[in-house]
Amino acid sequence: MASKKGNLSINSENMFPIIKKWLYSDHDIFYREVISNACDAITKIRKMDMMGEYQLPDGFKPRVDVVLNDKEKTIKITDNGIGMTAEEVEEYINQVAFSGATDFLNKYKDKANADQIIGHFGLGFYSTFMVSDSVDIDTLSYKSDAASVHWTCDGGSDFEMSDGSKTTVGTTITLHLSEDCLEFCNEYKAREVIEKYCSFMPYEIYLSKENEEGTETIKASEKLDSDTVIEEVHPEKKEGEDKDPELEYKIKRRPQLLNDTHPLWAKTPKDCTDEEYKEFYRKVFRDYKEPLFWIHLNMDYPFNLKGILYFPKINMEFESIEGTIKLYNNQVFIADNIKEVIPEYLMLLKGVIDCPDLPLNVSRSALQNDGFVKKISEYISKKVAEKLAGLCKTDKENYDKYWDDISPFIKYGCLRDDKFCEKMTDFILFKNLDGKYLTTPEALQINKEAEDEAAKESAVDEDGNKVEAEVVDDKKEAEDKKDEDKEPRTIYYVTDEQQQSQYIKMFKAQKMEAFIMNHNIDVPFMQQLESKNEGIRFARIDADLTDTFKSRTSKKAAAELEEKEKELSEKIKKALKNDKLTVKLEKLKDKKMSSMLTVSEESRRMAEMMKMYAMNGMNMGDFGAEGQTLILNANHPLVEYVMEHGDDDNTKLICEQLYDLARIQNAPLEGEAMSKFIARSNEIMMNILK
Ligand code: ADP
Repeated sequence: MASKKGNLSINSENMFPIIKKWLYSDHDIFYREVISNACDAITKIRKMDMMGEYQLPDGFKPRVDVVLNDKEKTIKITDNGIGMTAEEVEEYINQVAFSGATDFLNKYKDKANADQIIGHFGLGFYSTFMVSDSVDIDTLSYKSDAASVHWTCDGGSDFEMSDGSKTTVGTTITLHLSEDCLEFCNEYKAREVIEKYCSFMPYEIYLSKENEEGTETIKASEKLDSDTVIEEVHPEKKEGEDKDPELEYKIKRRPQLLNDTHPLWAKTPKDCTDEEYKEFYRKVFRDYKEPLFWIHLNMDYPFNLKGILYFPKINMEFESIEGTIKLYNNQVFIADNIKEVIPEYLMLLKGVIDCPDLPLNVSRSALQNDGFVKKISEYISKKVAEKLAGLCKTDKENYDKYWDDISPFIKYGCLRDDKFCEKMTDFILFKNLDGKYLTTPEALQINKEAEDEAAKESAVDEDGNKVEAEVVDDKKEAEDKKDEDKEPRTIYYVTDEQQQSQYIKMFKAQKMEAFIMNHNIDVPFMQQLESKNEGIRFARIDADLTDTFKSRTSKKAAAELEEKEKELSEKIKKALKNDKLTVKLEKLKDKKMSSMLTVSEESRRMAEMMKMYAMNGMNMGDFGAEGQTLILNANHPLVEYVMEHGDDDNTKLICEQLYDLARIQNAPLEGEAMSKFIARSNEIMMNILK
């Protein structure tokens, strides 16, 4: 072939300065672009072999070699792939890459970033000019009549093409680095970049250094890093003989393999061992804490997607969780945490996702922002929900074990993704006071028995009088049942076992269950479940007093109680000088309990929210006090005393003490309230001595 000079393309005069300037931030991606082109070329030649159009030489080992020469300031990337004929270089390198240049210049003048431009215009190969003064291609096509081609371009708009000297099929790209980019032929830098982008590319990638003799001289005392492999040592060292630390040895480093061509995610889950999963985690995320468990995604319908998501072990500090999801396209690293593809809440995890069907543009970078990408994201979310549900159904024991650690992720997912929430609702666990985990449906039903029991409880009231039973026929009962199924059921929860211990005691006595909800995320999470499910309600253990805790009364007795309640309420309000207080008179089963306080769920949540948003120094005082109800036990002698007596000193003392005792079971008394309580308690004790 006669040497050929040419002009790359109409707009290319402007291209290189633009590439250099605009792509500045991310210029290490040239490694990814060139090495993945090399892998593609190998895939193509293997395909030719499979189709019988070419026969690979015996013992063919696909490989890519990256050879650094810091003296010459070059990087050579060689593959034994398909190679290119002169016509192909003309077509793929000289013409195609620039076809979109005009568009590019108009569209992306202001907002382009490296990935976007390169992705959009198939400039993969040209990204080499971000770091090079000139680039050579030496290539020999697999085609039997092909001649080798040498192409060179100096980073301006002109190229030169001539006969080449390459004798083996494949391609070598040589980068003559610009002065300001010499770091890329530094061994450590090269390694770092290649490991970042190419760790799981499908063919072996070797890194080596090239210098005059291919050897370097070191003293034996110099420490070699552990993965340096010495191929030859001079002078020859005898078996069993220690090296003289002062002598100089000539060594030749063996090219180092940088990647794992069979990443774990590509394997069938059943062929992977726990140790492999852990090892993979350590290697990829450089995290030496063991992951808690993982989900291996492996699907090929409706699109190809493989990946492993690890749930890390966390502390209660939800805020400090920082995950990484690495996205790959056919084993080529694209980027971390691409929000279009990975559901937001999963970014708290650590993991890898490989989706060969990603709609990347011509070159492998920018995502086309279409509906398909969103579907991938939804699908990942769906699969994660299915896996978790599956674990809950088939391996509840382990699911229980992981729950405390994984629940913040799941709850956060429920908050951010309604579909995920819907799928997970039945597989949310609630931890009861004995540390047992119940699913949502179980937690909803757990108190039914106790409640039914209370409702059924001998149709006699505590004084042995028959409670006038309503006439029930079967039909009515069936209807009642239907209505009951529609009625929301309540999950009772505890936020502080110490503080709410009195209520817990009451609950336990009635064989009622409550669940621990003490994480920051639980508040919005409960709200979310309630708003998405008509049948679910949450109430803190001190929010109301269900019938379970009250003795049955006849209608007549109930009416009398109501009458007394009014009277008593007035007395108490007067004694406490507090007419906002709501007072209820109930016959409590626990006869030793004189008074208690309930705080309605709604006003408590409202107060909590206000507190959360309150400005510093804003005094919230008794905000939320409206939701408080003082419940007095009509079965208790102290309450009876107040009912029977007028405004004597004892009544006032008892009223005040009953109120404080009720409050103290709910929350600590503060400041003056506490002082008064202590003084009054002393006074009461002094009365004993009288
Ligand atoms: P893309 O890889 O996105 O197609 P590039 O600019 O990186 O864009 O490459 C353009 C074309 O040049 C490739 O599609 C391929 O046909 C050819 N090519 C590049 N590198 C090689 C190589 N190492 N071996 C064979 N062909 C190559």
